[in-house]
Amino acid sequence: MRQGVEKDKFEERYSRQILFRGIGAEGQRRLAAGRVAIVGCGATGSAVASLLARAGVGTLRIIDRDYVEASNLQRQSLFEEKDAAESLPKAIAAARKISAFNAEIVVEARVEDVVPRNIEALLEGIDVILDGTDNFETRYLVNDYALKVSRPWIYAAAVGSYGVTLNVVPGKTACLACIFPDSPRGMVETCETSGILNTAVNLIASVAATEAMKLLLGGAALGKLRETLWSFDVWANKHVEIAAGKPRVGCRACGERDFVHLTGEGRPHITMCGRNSVQIHERARPIDFAEMQRRLETLGVVRHNEFVLKFWHEPYEMTLFPDGRAIIKGTTDAGVARSLYARYVGS
Ligand SMILES: [Zn+2]
Repeated sequence: MRQGVEKDKFEERYSRQILFRGIGAEGQRRLAAGRVAIVGCGATGSAVASLLARAGVGTLRIIDRDYVEASNLQRQSLFEEKDAAESLPKAIAAARKISAFNAEIVVEARVEDVVPRNIEALLEGIDVILDGTDNFETRYLVNDYALKVSRPWIYAAAVGSYGVTLNVVPGKTACLACIFPDSPRGMVETCETSGILNTAVNLIASVAATEAMKLLLGGAALGKLRETLWSFDVWANKHVEIAAGKPRVGCRACGERDFVHLTGEGRPHITMCGRNSVQIHERARPIDFAEMQRRLETLGVVRHNEFVLKFWHEPYEMTLFPDGRAIIKGTTDAGVARSLYARYVGS
């Protein structure tokens, strides 16, 4: 009896989607059983997560290393002013927001940077991986991992008025490295983007989320998957498509299976992070925020919650995470950042 009531509720909630011929009642159940990871929850990640959550994808794992800032609110649709005021991690803020409009799905928030050391653990048990990152380093890493374990992933990016996306189905289509053997120049964005229209974001998120649903549905829906690198400029109204249905012969990643990004060769320990910040990729230094607050209080303004500690010491602003990772604003010099970190956190 109870089962029957639950079933009615489910079918009522998703009735407009079940009516759509490409999905139906069986398709809706497949979406409910689906497990999607969203790597990076900025603008594109927010939009994709929101769409898939409302569509009833049963498990979403949202992975993001960053915290919400006021400048995100123009385009990052899962966040509110109070999230920025509290400097909440994006993954946590996104999970809270989603639970307010769909409490029936599972959202797993992971406040982490996806790196070679943790990618297997972070993406374990996932059916489809969606790209919400802003950098090619992580995308190549995801590409290598997806090819290695034969899991589909969807590249999606938006810059300015332009969005671009590609489905990568290992063993079938081209991969990211087939099309871009190296990072495309002029498209590499850092944590702070240089300018973007929220409409371009939502467009590309809609296209990518639909393709993700086809992958989860399987069967006839797979025949509807796009096999091109697709881009659209909402300002210029220009549309470009490049064939990507077949792997490129001799591709380093999908052809030779040489997963250089997965082995982490040449990965920097300190990276530039936007126009005026440096990130220290420390991960093995558990931080006691209460203790750190006491230590720093006499030196400047400090505040923390359970996820993040912020410390202002003119002209610098340091954001510290529980695993020891830090973002230092006010410098682009790795040496200065290293010494500030050593001074305030430890060396
Ligand atoms: Zn390839």
